[in-house]
Amino acid sequence: MAAAPGDIVLVPLNRREEIGVVWDGPTDRTVPDARLKPVSAAVDAPPLTEALRKFVDWVAAYTLATPGEVLAMALRVNLLRVAPARTGWMLAAAAPEAGRLTPARARIAAVLADGRPRSAAALARAAGVGAAAVRGMADAGWLLPAALPVGPAFDWPDPAHPGPALSQVQAAAAAHLRAAVAAQRFRVDLLDGVTGSGKTEVYLEAVAECLRQGRQALVLLPEIALSSQWLERFERRFGVAPAVWHSDLPARTRRTTWRAVAEGAAPVVVGARSALFLPFPDLGLVVVDEEHETAFKQEDGVIYHARDMAVVRARLSEAPAILVSATPSLETLANVEAGRYGHLTLAARHAGAAMPDVAAIDLRAMPPERGRFLAPPLIEAMRATLAQGEQVMLFLNRRGFAPLTLCRACGHRMQCPNCTAWLVEHRARRVLQCHHCGHAEPIPPNCPNCDADHTLTPVGPGVERITDEAAETFPEARRLVMASDTIPGPDAAAAAAAAIAAREIDLIIGTQIVAKGWHFPHLTLVGVVDADLGLAGGDLRAAERTVQLLHQVAGRAGRAEAPGRVLLQTFSPEHPVMRALVQGDLAAFMRREAEERRPGHWPPFGRLAALIVSADTGEAADATARALGRTAPAGEGVAVLGPAPAPLAVLRGRHRRRLLLKTRRDIAVQPLLRTWLDQVAVPRGVRVDVDVDPVSFL
Ligand SMILES: [Zn+2]
Ligand SMILES: [Zn+2]
Repeated sequence: MAAAPGDIVLVPLNRREEIGVVWDGPTDRTVPDARLKPVSAAVDAPPLTEALRKFVDWVAAYTLATPGEVLAMALRVNLLRVAPARTGWMLAAAAPEAGRLTPARARIAAVLADGRPRSAAALARAAGVGAAAVRGMADAGWLLPAALPVGPAFDWPDPAHPGPALSQVQAAAAAHLRAAVAAQRFRVDLLDGVTGSGKTEVYLEAVAECLRQGRQALVLLPEIALSSQWLERFERRFGVAPAVWHSDLPARTRRTTWRAVAEGAAPVVVGARSALFLPFPDLGLVVVDEEHETAFKQEDGVIYHARDMAVVRARLSEAPAILVSATPSLETLANVEAGRYGHLTLAARHAGAAMPDVAAIDLRAMPPERGRFLAPPLIEAMRATLAQGEQVMLFLNRRGFAPLTLCRACGHRMQCPNCTAWLVEHRARRVLQCHHCGHAEPIPPNCPNCDADHTLTPVGPGVERITDEAAETFPEARRLVMASDTIPGPDAAAAAAAAIAAREIDLIIGTQIVAKGWHFPHLTLVGVVDADLGLAGGDLRAAERTVQLLHQVAGRAGRAEAPGRVLLQTFSPEHPVMRALVQGDLAAFMRREAEERRPGHWPPFGRLAALIVSADTGEAADATARALGRTAPAGEGVAVLGPAPAPLAVLRGRHRRRLLLKTRRDIAVQPLLRTWLDQVAVPRGVRVDVDVDPVSFL
């Protein structure tokens, strides 16, 4: 058979049939003809476009993965399960004009006026008529049978559907973005505005323009499974739901969605980072919402940053990209400052809502009672807010009851057998659990070290412990814990949002999942239980991330007629992070942060790549790490830090060492890494993972 680049085919490999894609580029003449085998069969699926093939090659080259590893992310569906062809109806040219049809038939004709075929059921539903009306019109010869796309027939979002009214500032920003989409050229804009300023409504206008252009739009969200409120806003704007893509979808839905995207039958996709690898035939816009979120970094397999790769995907598709955040990353701000990205700012909250009033509670001066974690000023504020019938949120970015359990008699600390990590008590489930590997064990009655009876004591709070404390202080308040283990998926998230909106909840106790995208109009007090928590890690972006997270949490409070209050419990109110939050001046904080990183060539003013060596034994990990240390690249503007034991020195039973390559911004790290890795033979059982632009340093 004649195959063209992009064709998806079946090929024999080690006596099995594997899916492959015909790739571009010259034939590899070093492989003898005798070793070549013919393609077994063509797979009935649309070919991968040139833009997607180039993207796969680009990501592979940047992350030092193989093209095959990256391609596997684009083919994460079973293409061999062919969905049965379905037939629907389209309007016949012979059909009379609307004025000469019955009202029911006129409505059917109006639905089909866009030329897109629909199934009988979808047609009856959209037109608000019975099945008999559709049948009757078909019997009259005014509807013709037409093949439906193999994918699910995604409803077509209507750009003319009347959406919410925009303010003048919003309308101006929307006009700018619409023009960028209409130009059908690559460019990047940062859309920056405080929580509640209507950023989503603004970029949905760019999506609308993309639909008018007949191209597809992709919106990336960091926590798509928890984005029920975002989906509601999309439906309010366009009248229908978009196609959704994330790893928790059932296999069948993934398969049909993949095909619908490939066939152009899914005009808008909202998805997690893996949606970047969907086979859009004509991508016209890429939006990255909450662009500063570290959840966009994939840390397993091919290690890549979806925000950065989204910009590449847009460039290869001749499409604009929009990065959206209330707290933009320093990387994106540096690109704005250098003139590489445009910048649109929505300064004020929409509809006149005021920014919340943020204050710090100095825990040294006003400590909580012994064995407790809520300081008196926070308890007083909670009492006053609850008395007014308003809602309160307590934020603590720690799941479980207590992060550490130790023996009062001998000091023994309960540690994970597989990881360099403490076991976290989950009291409701009566287990100690490791949050890195999932290891769980029952809480022992005696100390496993000294056998003393009932001496194991929880140290520090998690959300469960804060919930218990709040329940004792405010027994009447109706409570809801929002953490990844209590809100496991989109249905639970939607139910929680509905209960809060209906004021069936007085007190929300949450981890970082409460920080993103929620709008709780009756919430007027946010208490941050431990504002210092995120600063403890001490890595490059600890301060930046803490400001972003706490600012997002603070943004949940308040509305037009009832401005919110935010109280930060801290041991260091003078820390620049706390000052920035209290003064509400994040821009000044980010400028300061930039000036701290610039002289040492730290990102975004320099480049980083990490090598993570892991092995079954510490000796094996050390041997390879030392070999890498000896052959480390050197030169002007190049430095290698390490090898050193990783902070998580043992993870899932694997011993880990790290090396960090740091270069000036004008030096590409990939050629250095390739030469470096080529010099070291990595023994069996030892792995070296490459993390270009690392976000986690664990
Ligand atoms: Zn003990
Ligand atoms: Zn573990």
